[in-house]
Amino acid sequence: MNPTATAPEITSAPTEREGTPAIRVGSTASTDGAMVAIDPVIQLRDVSFYYNAFRAVKNITIDVPTHQITALIGPSGCGKSTLLRTINRMNDLIPGTRVEGSVTFHDEDIYASYVDAVEVRRRIGMVFQKANPFPKSIYDNVAFGPRLNGYKGDLPALVESSLKRAAIWDEVKDKLKQSGLSLSGGQQQRLCIARAIATEPEVILMDEPCSALDPRATLQIEELMAQLKENFTIVIVTHNMQQAARASDRTVFLNMADDRAGYVVEQAPTIEIFTNPKNQMTEDYVSGRFG
Ligand code: ADP
Repeated sequence: MNPTATAPEITSAPTEREGTPAIRVGSTASTDGAMVAIDPVIQLRDVSFYYNAFRAVKNITIDVPTHQITALIGPSGCGKSTLLRTINRMNDLIPGTRVEGSVTFHDEDIYASYVDAVEVRRRIGMVFQKANPFPKSIYDNVAFGPRLNGYKGDLPALVESSLKRAAIWDEVKDKLKQSGLSLSGGQQQRLCIARAIATEPEVILMDEPCSALDPRATLQIEELMAQLKENFTIVIVTHNMQQAARASDRTVFLNMADDRAGYVVEQAPTIEIFTNPKNQMTEDYVSGRFG
């Protein structure tokens, strides 16, 4: 895939790129279904992640296809959230952590020394398990990121379009000055999605975004995800198998090895994982026999 003219620039100092090593790509031999994705926007190659001496995930090779929803599933503690956070350098904020292997965004190594981690997080946004609006007005929650980035355009229009794209505009348009914390849990999560969208990311990472929501609010978020993938690429961690089956296009199943490091057992189009898995362990997991 060639980076296009619209591909984002994540380097803080492009001129420093000369002489940097070629992007490391892992083995093309794959037994778990990796590297079959068409037009991947993000590629992980042989990624391991350490919290001090503890390796939480190991040898992860995944392609994240553009404008699709990729679900990461697996038993609690197998490293799904950790893996998600390696995709936008969110783990950098945790002391004593280390990444091995390569994570590329439009073929650019996001961990290269010349890359600006803040810009990576702007281009690859994140929505968390528990909705976390700032204790500010609904408007200011959405305007926060653009203001921080020195947005020079029409801010009220950007706030409105972000709230519309997050399918919450109609519910909040008459109370933009009210606190974001006054909203219901499902509305708060959609507000957080609007906040993530407002900085115009290309990829949105979602870490169990519905785990604190009731079934109705969960379905609203799933419907929203289906709309959002027209414009964004989504990677979601979910412990809800029905959600992965309903909402995602591609599923990556992780499990924990004897050393407690998470690894990819199988990855494939979601329909295959749920109806015709190649690995017995996948079948056991998706049919609820463990985890
Ligand atoms: P999952 O999302 O699949 O439940 P996590 O990514 O949260 O798994 O955790 C994977 C492993 O990494 C677990 O053993 C967990 O205890 C460990 N871990 C997660 N966060 C930290 C941290 N900040 N410091 C040390 N260990 C952590």
